[in-house]
Amino acid sequence: MTAEVSKSGTTRRVFLWQSFLALNTLYLYPAFGEGGSNSAVLSLKIYDAETGKLMPCSVALRTSTGELLTQNPGYNDGFRCPGEFRSALPAGQTTLVVTRGFDYQSETREVELTDGKTTECEIRLARISPLHKDGWVCGDNHVHMKHGEGKILLDFPFLALTARAEALDYMSAAQQWNVDTVTPEILTRACAEVSTPDCMLHWNMEEPKNYWKGDVSHCMGHCWNIGMRDVAAGGKDPIAELFAMSAGDYQKEKEPTPNFESHAFIHSIGGIAAYTHPLRFWRGAWGGRNGFPFENEKFVSNMAQELPFDTIAGPTYDSIDIMMQTKERLVNQLGEQLWFMLLNQGYRIPATSSTDATFDNPGRAIPGKVRVYTRIEGELTLAKVAAGMKAGRNFVTSGPLLTFTVGSQGIGDVVPVATRIKHKTLVQAWASGAPTEYLTKIEVIRNGLVYKSIEITGKPKTHAVEFEIEEDNTSWYIVKCYGSQWSQYAVSNPIYFEAPGFQAPQPAQAQVELQVVAAGTGNSLNGSYEVIEMIGREPKVVSSGEIASGHAAFNAPATSRIRVRASGCEPAMKSIFIDTPTLLNATLEIQPEALLDWTTYENVRKTLRQIQLKFEMRSSA
Ligand SMILES: [Zn+2]
Repeated sequence: MTAEVSKSGTTRRVFLWQSFLALNTLYLYPAFGEGGSNSAVLSLKIYDAETGKLMPCSVALRTSTGELLTQNPGYNDGFRCPGEFRSALPAGQTTLVVTRGFDYQSETREVELTDGKTTECEIRLARISPLHKDGWVCGDNHVHMKHGEGKILLDFPFLALTARAEALDYMSAAQQWNVDTVTPEILTRACAEVSTPDCMLHWNMEEPKNYWKGDVSHCMGHCWNIGMRDVAAGGKDPIAELFAMSAGDYQKEKEPTPNFESHAFIHSIGGIAAYTHPLRFWRGAWGGRNGFPFENEKFVSNMAQELPFDTIAGPTYDSIDIMMQTKERLVNQLGEQLWFMLLNQGYRIPATSSTDATFDNPGRAIPGKVRVYTRIEGELTLAKVAAGMKAGRNFVTSGPLLTFTVGSQGIGDVVPVATRIKHKTLVQAWASGAPTEYLTKIEVIRNGLVYKSIEITGKPKTHAVEFEIEEDNTSWYIVKCYGSQWSQYAVSNPIYFEAPGFQAPQPAQAQVELQVVAAGTGNSLNGSYEVIEMIGREPKVVSSGEIASGHAAFNAPATSRIRVRASGCEPAMKSIFIDTPTLLNATLEIQPEALLDWTTYENVRKTLRQIQLKFEMRSSA
């Protein structure tokens, strides 16, 4: 076993190195290669301080002539290094900044390179926090290998090198993929071949990613997923199924499918779904294709427009991203506002984070720039990550790291409170290992309001604070901590306090009234109905009943479709969501303010109390 691991480890290193050299040849050598006048050579080795093994990392190397070495146009901040690097460079003072994600202390080195000589440089990087030992793993689940334009094409070895250089414990690569044929098996194999004990690469999808009838103003929402198996019921290919259910922008002809039917499919194969950038939107030019008129100031939505319905009906989804890359400041602020509102309404929705990095775009191959940490037990599997994530054992960060405990309870846990007693609380924070990072503030937030704010002076790398929480109400507490500037922050998921009698909101049921008549004559019909849950595109009957004199009334899950049969007629099916104009239109037309307004959600609940579906049955003769 050991021999096998070390053997494949060796092969891997060679493979990554070859992949790296191929890129090296393309981008480094023209500037610094044999053709130039560089006769100084740098030999750089980076080791894990703990294991003594070579370790991938990111290197920003500035030559004596002031140039920053880059490897490919996807990544502008330097290059991804497999652990060793050797290159001819201009002689003179050379600066190296070696980084590895947030949990390794970076190192900056000045090296004097001499003509005709090889200069050896060895660097050891060590972890900052005990998080990894304590079962916290970090990942990025919203990374596109190819996002459309395909300006830069990178291979799986480079994806894995990037993830390892960022110290991501796992990374999911979403559509599109740089392979000739797309199947789960092929992608799983391509990912497994480049996965290492310290970093698991897997495929996932940004699905549902759904624009109702292709209109970019009517975005039902984008979700990434994690933990899906390769095969769905009946041997179906999950990639093909999920693509079939969502319409891209301009895809007018596709049969519209609500996101919650995709969520049900994702759950059926072991996955969870996270709404990403739930409040990303802008105005801009769009249209002029496929029958859509050109508009200069079109409302372009990447919002989770279906989220109010999905929340009240379920929740049908499993988490929401409250942190995208920090340049999307407003998206993050509004996402957090949305999350606070849901928590205040008793919906214990986990918060996650993802980058939406795209490897085929200049400067955007930066997974892990923001990331989600999840606590698991034992060896890393994506199933465990998905379960931990759904249980809310997460924090999200653009740099700082944190722990938060109340007594023996940790992030995601529930503290029962019967009487008002004092609970010993501990928060520890670490600044990101990026150069010059330090801590400035820790905030404790209770039910959306600042409960305690601790200013941190002296620019420390770590800070711990102990205090007591006195609580006898149902409430939620989170911790935020900040680095040197606003864009450096971490947010924990809540620890919940729960008083006796608390009940989480239940999925709303629809109170349905059916009217069933013959098309043409309008005569009332007898027949039967079935309440159907759609698991993706597969109908599953959950209940059924009789239709007498054209009428039936019953309760059904809000997400269901109703199928009606009457003798001599074609069977017909309607969806509570799609075929109730109040529900569908409220979703299609929602604006950011309404997504952040609880009234919108209450209105969904109200509408569900009086669902009327009229079936005009066509003769099968
Ligand atoms: Zn995306």
